[in-house]
Amino acid sequence: MIRITLGAVSKPLESLKIKTGDWGAEYPVIDEEKCIGCGECEIFCPDLCIELVERPESKKEESKKAKKVAKINYNYCKGCGICEVVCPAEAIKMELKEIYKGELK
Ligand code: SF4
Ligand code: SF4
Repeated sequence: MIRITLGAVSKPLESLKIKTGDWGAEYPVIDEEKCIGCGECEIFCPDLCIELVERPESKKEESKKAKKVAKINYNYCKGCGICEVVCPAEAIKMELKEIYKGELK
């Protein structure tokens, strides 16, 4: 008798049961003023938990920089640090896990 087990993998950021955000020892913090919205971090993040979002209107005026800014979904970031390494603007710094309070989105 042959037994076949079927399985499925959820799309990134869609798992409701397994949020992997507390696996890492460190988490990336984005300096929005330095971010030039290039998208490198979004491309290289292995967990696809970074996306470029519209910079808030008030901050667009202040910074006169890119209209978009990187935003991290901490619920799924495993703290690998790749985003910090690839960021050409040095806008991402890894910080110790204590910043994660569970309420970060
Ligand atoms: S630390 Fe790793 S998993 Fe977290 S946002 Fe950066 S590249 Fe993605
Ligand atoms: S790589 Fe750096 S500058 Fe580029 S979008 Fe990400 S945080 Fe911003």
